[in-house]
Amino acid sequence: MTIKERLDSIQQNLPAHCKLIVVSKYRTRAEIEEVYQTGQRIFAENRVQNLVERRGELPEDIEWHLIGQLQTNKVKYIASFVAMIHSLDSIKLAEEIQKQAIKHNRIIPCLIQLHIAQEESKSGLHPDELDTFLKDPIWSSLDRVQISGVMSMATLTDDQDLIRSEFRKTREIFETLKKLYFKDNPHFKQISMGMSSDYQIAAEEGSSMVRIGSLVFGG
Ligand SMILES: *Cc1c(COP(=O)(O)O)cnc(C)c1O
Repeated sequence: MTIKERLDSIQQNLPAHCKLIVVSKYRTRAEIEEVYQTGQRIFAENRVQNLVERRGELPEDIEWHLIGQLQTNKVKYIASFVAMIHSLDSIKLAEEIQKQAIKHNRIIPCLIQLHIAQEESKSGLHPDELDTFLKDPIWSSLDRVQISGVMSMATLTDDQDLIRSEFRKTREIFETLKKLYFKDNPHFKQISMGMSSDYQIAAEEGSSMVRIGSLVFGG
């Protein structure tokens, strides 16, 4: 199958409200351009340095998302252009995003990364840390950090029921946070979940953004 055929088949499996983010990490510029030629405009990288490099060598109308862990000292490299940060997981990081957003006169959409999976290695906030995180009084001064929803990754497993339960949990947390903290906030609406191996389950469980790499590029 060509890249175009793979993209078409993924799109056919996605409900209309669910956006495809193509994860371009580890791919060559030519491969990314091939995807771009099909009309795809949203791409993601998991490392700051790669995000900056890619952005420099590819067309300007691409919307670049950051999906990997972000160190505070690296926010400055992406603040001028990043379309969304999927990995907000600390107040310290939010404060730095605020600071850099002011410098570039921007508002930066961010997703709260949730730690739902069973693997200890996966980053993100545990559900029981969310109240402390969101009740921090600092938020009233972080007007450049636009919390736009949540992001999660499911456990890497063949157990479809476990994957589904983790996506369902993510959706439930999203709904709870919406009710408790973002009731009148129209920006809080994204649920970023689903990758190559589990995006159809994620879409069924209410994902609004799937992040897909290997299934698009092959291998
Ligand atoms: C690499 C990556 C993806 C895409 O993974 P594939 O299995 O290649 O689709 C999605 N989300 C995150 C956070 C990633 O690091």
